[in-house]
Amino acid sequence: MSDNRFQAKRATRTEIPRPKKGEGQWALGYTEPLNKNEESKKNDDPLNVRDRILYTYSKRGFDSIDPADMRGRFRWFGLYTQRKPGIDGGKTAILDEEELDDRYFMMRVRSDGKLLSPAAVGTLGQIGVDFARDTADITDRQNIQYHWIEVENVPEIWSRLEEVGLHSTEACGDSPRPFLGSPVAGVAADEIIDGTSALREIESRYLGDPAFSNFPRKFKTALTGHPSHDVAPEINDIAFVGTVHPEHGPGFDVWVGGGLSTNPRLAEKLGVWVPLDEVADVWAGVAGIFRDYGYRRLRSRARLKFLVADWGKDKFREVLENEYLERPLVSNPSPESPLGHRDHVGIHDQKDGKKYVGLAPIAGRISGTHLVELAGVMEKFAVEGARLTPYQKIVLIGVSPEVVEELVTELDGIGFSARPSNWRQNTMACTGIEFCKLAIVDTKDRARDLIASLESRFPELDASITVNVNGCPNACARTQVGDIGLKGQLVLDDDGNQVEGFQVHLGGATGLTANFGRKLRAHKVTSAGLDDYISALVVNYLADREEGET
Ligand code: SF4
Repeated sequence: MSDNRFQAKRATRTEIPRPKKGEGQWALGYTEPLNKNEESKKNDDPLNVRDRILYTYSKRGFDSIDPADMRGRFRWFGLYTQRKPGIDGGKTAILDEEELDDRYFMMRVRSDGKLLSPAAVGTLGQIGVDFARDTADITDRQNIQYHWIEVENVPEIWSRLEEVGLHSTEACGDSPRPFLGSPVAGVAADEIIDGTSALREIESRYLGDPAFSNFPRKFKTALTGHPSHDVAPEINDIAFVGTVHPEHGPGFDVWVGGGLSTNPRLAEKLGVWVPLDEVADVWAGVAGIFRDYGYRRLRSRARLKFLVADWGKDKFREVLENEYLERPLVSNPSPESPLGHRDHVGIHDQKDGKKYVGLAPIAGRISGTHLVELAGVMEKFAVEGARLTPYQKIVLIGVSPEVVEELVTELDGIGFSARPSNWRQNTMACTGIEFCKLAIVDTKDRARDLIASLESRFPELDASITVNVNGCPNACARTQVGDIGLKGQLVLDDDGNQVEGFQVHLGGATGLTANFGRKLRAHKVTSAGLDDYISALVVNYLADREEGET
């Protein structure tokens, strides 16, 4: 943001005392960069790296890439260097980033809650096959995540994505990260309001806009009109949640300041009612507050949640109304509470008489080949489209009731289950040590083996137990809001050796009983002992649980 624009906004600002020791808040006059990340963003808008990727780096190869671009600005286009294979978790904190870097990239492609046509699913799969050694994970931010990408292939990948309405712009970085949208928007029989047009409006107006390409840190958005609050609104920086105002009807409440990582915080409800066609304006207002007032001195205090914690929701709303929207918002006397289960796995009725079918891969791990096969099945059964979910699942939309059972059987044969076990349905895992430079432990393979083991030990479980497996404290697979949340770290085994393991968090949840799991000092477990540890927990829970107790 230029200083001129900043000065123009200042004229309308309410009086907020300028602290002696600045936090790097632009709105209070602290515009000089206070750390290397801020300096890099000020030196060159990260959006400019797109042209360098297209016209320089992809032509000249990996060694031509400016390190400031490779380890910084590339993220604005969903590209991170991936971890060199074979470096154990004990080295993660010791080695420099360059020593951890491989010559390949991870690429995130955002779906933003879009309905993916069979052609789009097929394209996503074929990209995995052709350029990513057949990788194509589903993340809990509704992305497809590839690995082993070479910079030479990025232009062709982008070109294929664009043909089916997809891209990787601002999929990472201090930017408007991928938007979570209800996987059943527009079709669920019990939907309060369809927010699809609002998400598309935010995307077309603000994504790739230099006015919003330099936030203090990442900015996560979620929007749903479904009563199950199926986009984890509690842990996003901004969430729009369907609500019915007694006079005005269906619209959205606005929640701000949620986030996990090392200082988790649940979002605060502003208690307002925003009509569908004003959602994009309110998004820009909240994003503007974050850009202008967010803390930029320390990366560890830069997320919106720290500002919301310091201000409180009343002051946040006041600044939003007075300085950014220049009008009051409508208060909502009766915000909704969430209902039901959120992942949409299984076969469900649509409001038009068709069915939607939620499918559970294993901890989000699929392949390009799987997606190509899925596209083939979608075409064969004339399925309208697919959406990814914030729980590493896929929902097929617009399935004819006459073919649904045949479809489910065929999908089962290619690894997508519509009737999974509890363990397969409710276990998520982040990227982990296989590819992530911050990881301390393995996650994806560990989760796969854990699911198989628990399925054989508890084949008929009459409870829903979520297990969230994370490779480090960053909580990308939501350590703190699983029934059993696992944070990767090195622990001591019985012989006193440092080995891969987990700190256990117990009793976390989103939804009606949203809260963070308790972290008990003694609850650390080696990775090798995880199956037995969870089995013991489950046995005790089943023996001692009271009616309705999770
Ligand atoms: Fe990487 Fe840690 Fe996030 Fe897992 S939780 S993907 S290990 S940063």
